[in-house]
Amino acid sequence: MEKNMNPDDCIHCGKCKKNCLFLQKYDIDIGDKEKLYELAYHCFLCGECSKVCPIGIDGKEIILEMRRRKVRENNGKVPENGYSLLQFEKKDYIYKNYKNSTNNTVLFPGCNFPSLFPKTTKKLMEIFKKHGIGTVFDCCGKPISELGLTKEEGEIVNRLEKNLKKHNIEEIIILCPNCYAFLKPVLNIKITSIYEKLQELGIGEKIEAGKVYPTCQERGNFPMFGKIEPFLDGEASFVEGIQCCGLGGCASSKEPEISSTMAGKTKDLGKVLTFCASCTGIFDRNGGDAEHILLKILGEEENPDSKKSMINRISTRWWKV
Ligand code: SF4
Ligand code: SF4
Repeated sequence: MEKNMNPDDCIHCGKCKKNCLFLQKYDIDIGDKEKLYELAYHCFLCGECSKVCPIGIDGKEIILEMRRRKVRENNGKVPENGYSLLQFEKKDYIYKNYKNSTNNTVLFPGCNFPSLFPKTTKKLMEIFKKHGIGTVFDCCGKPISELGLTKEEGEIVNRLEKNLKKHNIEEIIILCPNCYAFLKPVLNIKITSIYEKLQELGIGEKIEAGKVYPTCQERGNFPMFGKIEPFLDGEASFVEGIQCCGLGGCASSKEPEISSTMAGKTKDLGKVLTFCASCTGIFDRNGGDAEHILLKILGEEENPDSKKSMINRISTRWWKV
C-alpha cells in the first residue's frame, strides 16, 4: 500500500491506538494532529502505527516530520530539554577513532555494541585484523536524525563519508541494525552486514533458531535479519506484542514508564534472541532473558555491561589492536 503522509485522511478506526502505549496514554490517534504535534518527542518512532493503518497512513514518518518542523520553527534547535548530552556526543561523534583503519575494508561497530559488549567487540577487531580488516569507531547519526535535526543529519553523513574516503576505506562492515538501515541508503561506500562478511570468511557457527525480537527497522522487511538467516538452524519465530524495546525515537526520557513497560514485556517470554545491542541491554535491565545472535554465532559469552556502558563507549576512543 502506498504510504499516506496526510493525517487528515484518518478515519479514526483506532487501530494505531490499539497497538501503541503512547497513543493510549494520551487517548489520541494519528489523526489528532494538533495534540500529536505537541507530543512529537514522546513517540518512540517504532512504526507499529504505520504497519497497522488500513489506509496506509505513515504515523512514524508524520511524527518525524513534525519534529523537523518544530526544529525549523525553533531556529534550528531541538525545542525540548533533555537532549543536550546526546547532541554534544553525537553531532560530531566525540569518541570517533580511525586509528585502526589501516585497510580499505573496516568493521564499523557503531556506538552501542561496543558500549554493551566491549569484550566481544575487541575479539571481533582481532578476528577481522587477521583477515586484513581494520576497525572504525564512529556514529551513524540516526539519533540526531530522529531529533529532527535535518541539517546536522546531512552534515554527519557527509563528514562520515569524507573521513572514510580520506582513510581510503572502500567497504564498511556493519553489525548494528540501526546503523545498517540508516546508512545503507545514503552512504556512497559499499556497506556489508557483519553476517554476510562472517559467512564469506567462514567464521561462526550455526545456531538454533528460536524466538527472535526484530528491531523497529526490521518490521515488514528484513534488511539485516535476512543476512542472519543462513546462520539459523530451523525457522525463527518473531516475538509478537512488543511494540518497541523502549529505546526508540529518543522518547524514553519523556516516557520512562512506557519505556520500561515495553521492555518489561520480555520477562514472561523466556529466551529471546535479538540482533540489536540496545534491545539486548534494555531487555536484560528489565528482567528479560535476551541473547544477542552475533555472540551466539561467535560462541562468545558476555552479559550486556549496562553499568559501565558509558565508560566503555568513551574508551573506544583509544582502542587499538
Ligand atoms: S511510531 Fe510507534 S510510538 Fe509513535 S505513534 Fe506510531 S506506534 Fe506509537
Ligand atoms: S490506524 Fe490509520 S485510520 Fe485508523 S486511527 Fe490510526 S491513523 Fe487513523
